[in-house]
Amino acid sequence: MNEAQRRAQYLNALGIQVWTQRNKPVAAAAETAAATPVPVVQSPGVAARPAQHDVALLDWTALQQRVASCTACGLHSTRTQTVFGVGNNNAQWMVIGEAPGADEDRQGEPFVGRAGKLLNEMLRAIGLRREDVYIANVLKCRPPNNRDPLPAEVEQCEPYLKRQVALVQPKIILAVGRIAAQNLLQTDITIGKLRGQQFSYGGIPLVVTYHPAYLLRSPAEKRKAWDDLCFARGILAGTRVAN
Ligand code: URA
Repeated sequence: MNEAQRRAQYLNALGIQVWTQRNKPVAAAAETAAATPVPVVQSPGVAARPAQHDVALLDWTALQQRVASCTACGLHSTRTQTVFGVGNNNAQWMVIGEAPGADEDRQGEPFVGRAGKLLNEMLRAIGLRREDVYIANVLKCRPPNNRDPLPAEVEQCEPYLKRQVALVQPKIILAVGRIAAQNLLQTDITIGKLRGQQFSYGGIPLVVTYHPAYLLRSPAEKRKAWDDLCFARGILAGTRVAN
């Protein structure tokens, strides 16, 4: 494989479309032809990656449309609809969960089931209404039977979440639950160890807390979630410094 082929294969694997001049001089066109074909490298069951450079330029409307028509991973075939995100587009707080569940898949809005009601109460406890914050998930489609997201699904969906964060420009991100925390921070560390620390997601302070669905099963842990919310509020108020 020559240098041009290697470069083309690399760009292709990253999902970056290579533009070529249409009316190339004959000699240059012959050179390009000699450098093709480029094998398409794709993981099984995963379609081409959304063009990240492209998503990174989209406004809210275009991003929402792109998500709604996304077929980048297998979850599009089992979803009722995509679950984009909801709330104040200029929020100071951004809450990021794992993925839509059955209620969210049906209604097209994140955190609308029992866990969502508890999330609303948690927010209210620190003086925030649901509509004051922006709420999104790592995945925009429901995994069948609420199974954990697959790494390839997270990878395909990540540009959408990154763009949402870039558009909202929150002052603090609250990662709720192990799956959100571990994927956003790209770590295997347990949620118990991630709590109580200030992290950064693209330069934005990020705090980890328990998922409200877990808190419904383990109400004794609500106290710790309260501590996490106060910790995050302290960071926002500038009274906490990074570890
Ligand atoms: N759990 C999540 O992580 N997100 C939702 O939207 C609903 C439940």
